[in-house]
Amino acid sequence: MKVIVATKNQHKLTEFSRILGPLGYQLVSQGEVCPDIEVEEDGDTFLENARKKAVEIFRRTGIPTIADDSGLCVDALGGAPGVHSARYADDEGEGHNDAANNRKLLRELKDVPAEQRTARFVSAISFVLGEGDVVECEGTCEGTIGFQSLGDNGFGYDPLFLVEGGSFASIPGEEKDRISHRGNALRKLQVLLEERK
Ligand code: IMP
Repeated sequence: MKVIVATKNQHKLTEFSRILGPLGYQLVSQGEVCPDIEVEEDGDTFLENARKKAVEIFRRTGIPTIADDSGLCVDALGGAPGVHSARYADDEGEGHNDAANNRKLLRELKDVPAEQRTARFVSAISFVLGEGDVVECEGTCEGTIGFQSLGDNGFGYDPLFLVEGGSFASIPGEEKDRISHRGNALRKLQVLLEERK
């Protein structure tokens, strides 16, 4: 089955492909099929945003669409940046980029000791298979926020997010998939899809 992955983020597409590819889905990116569709992510929850993206792209293309909305929730910051993870540093005129977001996160946590730097990544997935036919799930991954960047892999907050063995940016991609919020969400999705057969 051909499925649009509702993202223009190449890293996310790679992670989706590594996990869903072997299950027989032919994944194509939104960038290839419908690059002009912009969906505003103005929901209060990850799931609302994921659903909005998937429903809108399915409505406009008629092709089954899977969307993930994800982000980082830091306990010492009351759950921020949360649904604003992608544009965390925008209000500081830093522009919309990962390096600026990471700099802001380190600044906000500069007086927070190691044991209080707990955080989790969250990934909400909405898969629209047909009109009114939607499968949804969520995955999380617990970790802590480091004091400096570590590693060059991945994207976003990966260099600051510490798990056993290093940061998300210093461990191999397959290891990230095994424990990550997106990996956990996609494995739940797989179970839900198998139950429908
Ligand atoms: P989205 O594309 O609206 O879901 O935005 C997600 C944002 O959350 C990204 O721009 C990253 O800043 C952050 N994020 C989500 N998942 C990850 C991940 O696996 N690693 C690092 N950052 C992530």
